[in-house]
Amino acid sequence: MDRDPVCGYTGIIGDECPNCGRLEGDVQFDRIRRITGYLVGTLDRFNDAKKAEERDRIKHFNASEQMEQL
Ligand SMILES: [Zn+2]
Repeated sequence: MDRDPVCGYTGIIGDECPNCGRLEGDVQFDRIRRITGYLVGTLDRFNDAKKAEERDRIKHFNASEQMEQL
């Protein structure tokens, strides 16, 4: 289900809003189907990759700090 944040219409929106007839332009329609599916999955994978990257960076940072102390 899609939503037009301008007029508040909720339903299936194609290229134009069936309620107010505006085209998707500066204000994009909320594509709820995309948010609950593809987009969230992509973000989850992105966050996992980012967390792993930070974990590695912390590991490397601690290792080099201990080297300096020794
Ligand atoms: Zn509308």
